[in-house]
Amino acid sequence: METADHGRVVCQLAGRLKQGPVESDLAAVGDRVTITIHPDGSGTIETVAERERVFSRARPAPTFRKTATDKEQVWVANPDQIVFVMATREPEPSLRKLDRFLVVAERNEIPAIICINKIDLVSFAKAEETFQIYADIGYSLIFVSAKDGDGLDELRQCLHNKLTVLAGSSGVGKSSLLNALEPGLGLRVKAVSEATTKGMHTTRHVELFALEGGGYLVDTPGIRSLALFDMEHGELDAYFREIAPLVADCQFSDCSHTHEEKCAVLRALADGRISRQRYDSYLRLREEHESLHKSAY
Ligand code: GDP
Ligand code: ZN
Repeated sequence: METADHGRVVCQLAGRLKQGPVESDLAAVGDRVTITIHPDGSGTIETVAERERVFSRARPAPTFRKTATDKEQVWVANPDQIVFVMATREPEPSLRKLDRFLVVAERNEIPAIICINKIDLVSFAKAEETFQIYADIGYSLIFVSAKDGDGLDELRQCLHNKLTVLAGSSGVGKSSLLNALEPGLGLRVKAVSEATTKGMHTTRHVELFALEGGGYLVDTPGIRSLALFDMEHGELDAYFREIAPLVADCQFSDCSHTHEEKCAVLRALADGRISRQRYDSYLRLREEHESLHKSAY
């Protein structure tokens, strides 16, 4: 526990917090807690405030396969936002991956920001064109170059006094960006991420990095596995924000949005109100989800 007056304090959970049915992790990184500090310098977590949001690995399991061990695993409590870092080139942006990631953010109800790095490698017009559809559906975009320093002020402002979950494939320049924001920060984050990735199956280590000007970062290696794991059938519609409001206008409540004649999603696709690329991502994720479910039986 990081405290203002006593530095870092190793805490245990008060016994009474552990009583009763447990639906979720009792305390997680980002939780707002009260502690008492004992004469030997150790501490006890007395209360955990109700969480405004959580970034979790699993939701309480759907009833059809609920088991005693199923509970929500809170990865980060109270995150303010998720920043997904991509590159304009090297590696080529994978919009499929971005769409998958946005589903994770929507599902956890955490505002998502798309940070596009390496804008020095393409014309600004090109970078904008690639990502315009995301701006059109309401996501914030930040264009930056860790190399030239372009856009860093905007990124710094975006992170200021927030608890930000950071994501992005390796090679997009996450470490370089963090180093450009604060010397050494990228290296420190990377060291922890590498250790976490190696031990992913045995430990669940999440570390907050304090920002100089206020605010915290959490890195998320392994976010990919989060997307579809325990989703219910039909849930995906809700996580494509341009598709979600259309679904009610489809003729059939179980519309698959693939061939039905009076499908509002297909109509919007034909009119160009939703993008083909996003629609394809949606179909791809749904297929993947269906095959996951089949293999679960
Ligand atoms: P990470 O794996 O996401 O942490 O990526 P790194 O920060 O290690 O960067 C990967 C590669 O991209 C390195 O060779 C960096 O020098 C390069 N790189 C990072 N940011 C930029 C940028 O803004 N412009 C250019 N041209 N290269 C960059
Ligand atoms: Zn439909």
